[in-house]
Amino acid sequence: MGAGPAGAAAARVAAAAGLSVALVDKARFPRDKLCGGGVTGRSALYFREIYGEDIPAHLIDTKTSVEFHAFGHSLGLLPDIPPMHLAMRVELDAEMQRRAIRAGAMDLSGCRVAALDLAPPALSLADGRRLRAKVLIGADGVNSIVARQLFGQSYDRDQIGFGLEVEAAPGPDNAAAPLRIDFGAADWGYGWHFPKRGSSTIGIGGVLSRNADMKASMAAYLAQLGRDPSLPCKGHHLPFGEVHKRPGHGAVLLAGDAAGLVDPITGEGIAYAMKSGQLAALAAAEAIAAGAPASALRRYRRRLVPVHRAMRQARAIRVLIFSPLFRPAFVAAFRSSGRLRHLYMRLLAGEIEYGDMMRATLRRLPSFLLGAARNRGDTTQPDQGA
Ligand SMILES: Cc1cc2nc3c(=O)[nH]c(=O)nc-3n(C[C@H](O)[C@H](O)[C@H](O)COP(=O)(O)OP(=O)(O)OC[C@H]3O[C@@H](n4cnc5c(N)ncnc54)[C@H](O)[C@@H]3O)c2cc1C
Repeated sequence: MGAGPAGAAAARVAAAAGLSVALVDKARFPRDKLCGGGVTGRSALYFREIYGEDIPAHLIDTKTSVEFHAFGHSLGLLPDIPPMHLAMRVELDAEMQRRAIRAGAMDLSGCRVAALDLAPPALSLADGRRLRAKVLIGADGVNSIVARQLFGQSYDRDQIGFGLEVEAAPGPDNAAAPLRIDFGAADWGYGWHFPKRGSSTIGIGGVLSRNADMKASMAAYLAQLGRDPSLPCKGHHLPFGEVHKRPGHGAVLLAGDAAGLVDPITGEGIAYAMKSGQLAALAAAEAIAAGAPASALRRYRRRLVPVHRAMRQARAIRVLIFSPLFRPAFVAAFRSSGRLRHLYMRLLAGEIEYGDMMRATLRRLPSFLLGAARNRGDTTQPDQGA
């Protein structure tokens, strides 16, 4: 249920495994999804794994340089990063949904799920139809009604992230312009400027409870980029560090945002949505083949261990990046260390995992702590809301 990156991947993999699959989404495709459209090397890798080919070139702009800023100051340009792709979600998601249907999933787009039963799984569509399934994969995004039915709420209001975004007119040099990341544009989050062929995607995102006035932060960020601060922006929640430890119940599995699987430092969610959709489908196929659909969650959790580990490690590291105590030391280290900046980009590219980042961070911890002690009481950097 849900035909975004998580649901489409699940449907594609389940159909390829010979299961009879219905791919249900309230929207008709192509449909938009508020998102930076940053498609990391990790996303590109999972796309290839799931769909058997590279992401079609016409759907992406590829960047090999990035500019980092913090609190209005440049931290430097990295001219040779591992390729980072930019897409418009309206196109990318339609491509994935189409591929899932082509693999044999029944197309139930334009069908809103109004209610559901958990055991045995069944969906009631808004048009009155009812669907029964051996296994249900809830890939219905951050406001998941499947998660709500399982846990009483889709997400925890204290932990949830929020992003604001504008699709602004493309600059004349967008084709050659680097990506731009701005630490401090939002508290416990950051800002981004993704220059694409047809648009400049500008946004900020962070932990909602730590940002008293995100609209004001967005206006300030637009002004900092030399854009009209009153450009109309759109907002959307995103999970940002609150992973559902039990992503489902019996034969009901959660994938993607519905399971809270977004990187709590970078906000990357497309890759983890695809990966969890794939793993959920494999677990479902295994459980059904064993004649025990209710064992799907146990099988899924086993497969998800590396993803959950990465999320836990990222949460531990993010304190060093975003907390007011360590932030100045992090910014100083990021400014002075090309190696740290490269590690960050290799992490985004999927070339290394948070375990590697943690080891590198631990090596720098003494200087971090020293820097934090020195910066205690430093008021030169804004600290609102934290
Ligand atoms: C501002 C912002 C910027 C972001 N930027 C990036 C980025 O640059 N790179 C990145 O990797 N990630 C980014 N993310 C995160 C990324 O967008 C999500 O993690 C990703 O979309 C999750 O995919 P999904 O398939 O789980 O959910 P979604 O893409 O949200 O898909 C869920 C689907 O479920 C359907 N649905 C919901 N309810 C129902 C219902 N009742 N009945 C039927 N269908 C239903 C919806 O129509 C939707 O199609 C960003 C998020 C935000 C908010």
